[in-house]
Amino acid sequence: MEQTLSIIKPDAVAKGVIGKIVDRFESNGLRIAAAKKLQLSQAEAESFYAVHSERPFFKDLVEFMISGPVFAMVLEGEGAMAKNRDLMGATNPQEAEPGTIRADFADSIDANAVHGSDSVENAKNEIKFFFCDREIV
Ligand code: GDP
Repeated sequence: MEQTLSIIKPDAVAKGVIGKIVDRFESNGLRIAAAKKLQLSQAEAESFYAVHSERPFFKDLVEFMISGPVFAMVLEGEGAMAKNRDLMGATNPQEAEPGTIRADFADSIDANAVHGSDSVENAKNEIKFFFCDREIV
């Protein structure tokens, strides 16, 4: 069964909407195969987002991701990667379809509530970044 990584970002954790966001996944056929709340270090956030290291928003992105705890999950289900991306909505919440997680819970392109892997290949690496095998059940 396909797996993908989801992160509830510091803005949504601070708002107390972890449960509401998890409900979106569970209500749409995605199973929570692993979950943990943690505080990322700067080095961890820089490493996780290394692909964006040359982008002008990299520093802001890293600062935001370490501004408070995050809630990381492995989502599992048929077409889990694409399904999660659909449920998340567009990167910029102002452009996100009504009813998507970002439309309902995000405030800005920085504080956009959730991260989701953007390919099945990236999902495998991102899952390894957060979870060891015995934490995924
Ligand atoms: P995602 O896959 O929808 O999360 O989007 P990307 O992989 O393109 O970007 C990763 C994250 O960087 C996004 O979720 C945003 O938090 C942030 N980001 C992307 N583009 C911009 C931008 O133009 N400006 C700012 N400030 N942040 C951005």
